[in-house]
Amino acid sequence: MEKGKLQIEAVNIRDYTEEKHGRVDDYPYGGGAGMVMQAQPVYDCYRHVRQMAGDDAPVIYMSPQGQTLNQAMAGELASLESMIILCGHYEGIDQRVLDEIVDREISIGDYVLTGGELPAMVLADCVSRLLPGVLHNSESALHESFEDGLLEHAQYTRPRVWMGREVPEILLSGDHARVDEYRYQESLERTRALRPDLLET
Ligand code: SAM
Repeated sequence: MEKGKLQIEAVNIRDYTEEKHGRVDDYPYGGGAGMVMQAQPVYDCYRHVRQMAGDDAPVIYMSPQGQTLNQAMAGELASLESMIILCGHYEGIDQRVLDEIVDREISIGDYVLTGGELPAMVLADCVSRLLPGVLHNSESALHESFEDGLLEHAQYTRPRVWMGREVPEILLSGDHARVDEYRYQESLERTRALRPDLLET
């Protein structure tokens, strides 16, 4: 952000409530546990954010009910000029405002967090590292796990021997073709052992 590679504005929905004491939630119609975020502050906040983000920015609601985030999705989102990320809290947000403004729901996994802030940060991090100039070496994002449907090979750095464990000899050979082949086989083996589901697709 300091180098102008991306811009993130955090906006507090509470600042848009018409209720005193900054309240943004109320009891759920039909009863049940917990509170629900009201439509009015979410919508008024959205209208303000829409002006900043422009007409084309999709509204993404972070929700455990959304599509599970993956690397392909991150790549797709990284090509956008801007996006609006909506975070829920409590039991969630009044469905009517979601129906009005949300284009897409994204989950960060099959578990429930207290609020959408951490999921929004996860999304912002994995998308922004794909933007030009964010990583020092843009090549590194291309060889990461999931980019080619495989987990990445093991990594080693100096020293050559640590606690009696040696770096695989081939990585010191300087033979790039053999190193690439070794790493590819390593990736396949890891994927087969740790995430065989990735090989099925
Ligand atoms: N009542 C909702 C349900 O059962 O589907 C869960 C609400 S959760 C306690 C509150 C907020 O946290 C959600 O509105 C969403 O913004 C966020 N959240 C929780 N878990 C999430 C996940 N796995 N992925 C993305 N957002 C999540």
